[in-house]
Amino acid sequence: MGGFNMTTIDVSRRSFIKGGLAGAMGIVAAGSLAACAGSGSKKESSADSTKEQITVEETREADVVVVGLGASGLMAALAAADKGANVIAIDSAQNFEGTTNTHTTGAWMIGSKEQLKHADYLTEQEAFEWIEPGTHYQSNGKVLRNIIRSSAQAANYLIDGGVQLMYAFEGSTKDTPMLSRGGHIYLEEGEGRANNFRDMCAQRSNLETIFNCKAQQLVTDDSGNVTGIICKNGKTETQINAKAVIMCSGGFLANPDMIKELFAGAVLVNQGMGQNDGSGIKMCQEAGAQIGKNFSVSINEMGAANLKASPAYSWAPGRGTNPCFYLPLFGNILVDKRGERFMNEQQMCELTMFSGEPLLRDPYYYTIVDQAYVDRVKSSPVFDFLTAGTKQNMGPALLMGFQDVTLSDFDKSIDEAISQGWAAKADSIEELAKKFDLTDLPETIKAYNDACSKGYDDEFFLPADYMHAINQGPYYVFEYNPGAWVTLGGIKTDGFCRAVNADNDVIKGLYVAGVDGDFWSVPYFQGGSCNGFSLASGVLAGNTASADI
Ligand SMILES: Cc1cc2nc3c(=O)[nH]c(=O)nc-3n(C[C@H](O)[C@H](O)[C@H](O)COP(=O)(O)OP(=O)(O)OC[C@H]3O[C@@H](n4cnc5c(N)ncnc54)[C@H](O)[C@@H]3O)c2cc1C
Repeated sequence: MGGFNMTTIDVSRRSFIKGGLAGAMGIVAAGSLAACAGSGSKKESSADSTKEQITVEETREADVVVVGLGASGLMAALAAADKGANVIAIDSAQNFEGTTNTHTTGAWMIGSKEQLKHADYLTEQEAFEWIEPGTHYQSNGKVLRNIIRSSAQAANYLIDGGVQLMYAFEGSTKDTPMLSRGGHIYLEEGEGRANNFRDMCAQRSNLETIFNCKAQQLVTDDSGNVTGIICKNGKTETQINAKAVIMCSGGFLANPDMIKELFAGAVLVNQGMGQNDGSGIKMCQEAGAQIGKNFSVSINEMGAANLKASPAYSWAPGRGTNPCFYLPLFGNILVDKRGERFMNEQQMCELTMFSGEPLLRDPYYYTIVDQAYVDRVKSSPVFDFLTAGTKQNMGPALLMGFQDVTLSDFDKSIDEAISQGWAAKADSIEELAKKFDLTDLPETIKAYNDACSKGYDDEFFLPADYMHAINQGPYYVFEYNPGAWVTLGGIKTDGFCRAVNADNDVIKGLYVAGVDGDFWSVPYFQGGSCNGFSLASGVLAGNTASADI
């Protein structure tokens, strides 16, 4: 089989989106708020004087503390516990359902017990030789190798833990696309998967999970070693002393300041969970850890977004989004705030999830369509504008999501976008340009229309299949911010997820995994590896920490 089972993925993708929205909007079921048992004694934290002084009300002891119970944190906790460590794992979410890892669609993994049943299974060598050149050798090679080696243990935790999976690699050969060869697709989203995760933890008596508990500081000793965390457990400030802290806090998508800083002024609409606020990365930095050098995003392959829109999110068809957010996905011309084109728009259709980098260069980007286009998408599926060749190249999410989508209510959607301030209509391109100060737009449209007449785009080489002249007024402009699922990149580590300082020396007691870790590339490269590598890096960090202590 050449690709994922479309029907199954479709269902799963839609359901995770629902869950993602619920999570992002804070609509999560209230779970029981486990309380830390502890001494109850009050004392000042041992964090150094540059840090906020917190009055600690409880003190606890563990071998390993894991911050975050998402993909990497869950795996880190299981792996460390299975090596015999006493583990306390905390998460600021209310329960497992409030973590992203119960809402993802699929994980790209290597060497699971199900993969090994197949003669042509994806080997560690193939995976390494695929990722290294694919990411232009940007990855931390040592940690990448070790993550690939840890991937089977992570996948087998899911399989043995009863997580319902569909295997995209069934019937695959060496020629099957890599996405399928590593594809472990979740069949259950939300509660069912959360129950599996809860049971997996409950089966280990040396592993305690605490939700609604947010880490606030790392505790360091006089030598700079990390010796624990201070966390807010409900209303109680608790210090957990530990020989190892594994940071798995899931990046900084919910932190606009960090996005601006680390993506050179970018604005991203957060389509993930609100808890990924970069606090873990900041804590590691405060403890002397060196920030990594690669930062990228997994862009929302279902469309654009706009902070002014209500809701700001762009979900798959049928999820209540404004369909005007789909327009950049289908090869429509894209311009920056100067009104100039900046990329080959084909990429948005065929490699949507990986096209985040060009979109991050400006806080806003815009698409322009004319009345002829609007009339066409009202009467026949947007998909019909694509040629057979283009459809074949489309990203699987677009293929699955948009096949039957006709924008019959498009006028209403446009009116809504205009009323929310992220779209405008005008009788001429000159007038349209003024609506968002797109100074060079008239010139850009003229050049583009000339290219359409020639059938050849000598600026960005957009294939003729996608080109359609913009010459029948009135005209429409839509303003977008990129929407993303997650940020990738955080703290620099050695090859085993141990955080390092500015001298590249290991900070004793501090480990980092998941999207906070140091093995991501710009751009994000392999679909599903975000989840797969997060899971595997958690295993690696858990194994390493428990061996070190
Ligand atoms: C809706 C959605 C769907 C996705 N689907 C896919 C997919 O199908 N495939 C894929 O490869 N990737 C997918 N992703 C990307 C996804 O984020 C990663 O796959 C994966 O969850 C990252 O793992 P992580 O452990 O690094 O972070 P997370 O799984 O986000 O876990 C981090 C955890 O840390 C907690 N936390 C943060 N700060 C603190 C703190 N200070 N104290 C305590 N706890 C804290 C958070 O609550 C969170 O639960 C999706 C993302 C979203 C939002």
